[in-house]
Amino acid sequence: MTARLLIVGPQGSGKGTQGVRVADSFGVPAISTGDMFRAAVAGGSELGTQVREIIQAGNLVPDQLTSKVVQERLSQDDAAQGFLLDGYPRNLGQVEDLDAFLASRDEQLDAVLELVVPRDESISRLTRRAQEQGRTDDTEEVIANRLAIYERETAPILEVYSARGVVDTIDGVGTLDEITDRIVAALQARGLTRPAAV
Ligand code: ADP
Repeated sequence: MTARLLIVGPQGSGKGTQGVRVADSFGVPAISTGDMFRAAVAGGSELGTQVREIIQAGNLVPDQLTSKVVQERLSQDDAAQGFLLDGYPRNLGQVEDLDAFLASRDEQLDAVLELVVPRDESISRLTRRAQEQGRTDDTEEVIANRLAIYERETAPILEVYSARGVVDTIDGVGTLDEITDRIVAALQARGLTRPAAV
C-alpha cells in the first residue's frame, strides 16, 4: 500500500513533529524542505550558501530551486512507495510544479493533512521553541514574517486541494498522541492503512 501525503499548517502547528510520527507509522520517509535547507546551510554546501540569507529572513526560497531539491529527493528509491511532504508545496506555483512532477510518474497525493491551531497557541509554541532550540529564524520579527507569508501564500493551496477532495482538517490541539491518532483515523477513513507490524 502506498501513501503519498502532505502535511500543512502554520508555523508552530506541530506539523514537523506530527509529520515524522505519521511517516514513521506508515513506513514512508518524512521529507521536510525546512530540514533539508537547514542541513544544507549547516553543511556549507552550495545550496546552503544560496539559501542561508533567505531562511534567516523567513522568506521563501525561489520556487525553481525548491522544486528541484524536492524532485531530486522524491526520485530516491525510498520514496517510491510513498512519502510525507512537510513544508512543500508552500504556494500555488509549487503546487503546479508538484502536480507536473507527480503526473509524469503517474502518481498523485492521497491526502493533505491540514493541522489547525489557534494563533496564540502557535505563537506560544514558537516562543518556547526559540528558547529551547535557538533556531535563528525564530525571532519575533522573522516569525511574524513567516506567519504573514503562510496566510498570504500557503493558505490558498488548501483551497486547491479541497476542491480535489483530498483535505483532512485535523484539530492540532491536544497531546502528541491524541493528534497522531486523529491523523491516523482520518487516513484510515480514506482507506489508507498502516502496514501491519512485523
Ligand atoms: P516553518 O514552517 O516554521 O517556517 P520550515 O522548517 O518549514 O519552518 O521552513 C524554514 C524555512 O525554510 C522557511 O522560512 C523558508 O525560508 C524555507 N522553506 C522551507 N520550505 C520551503 C518551500 N517549500 N519553499 C520556499 N522556501 C521554503
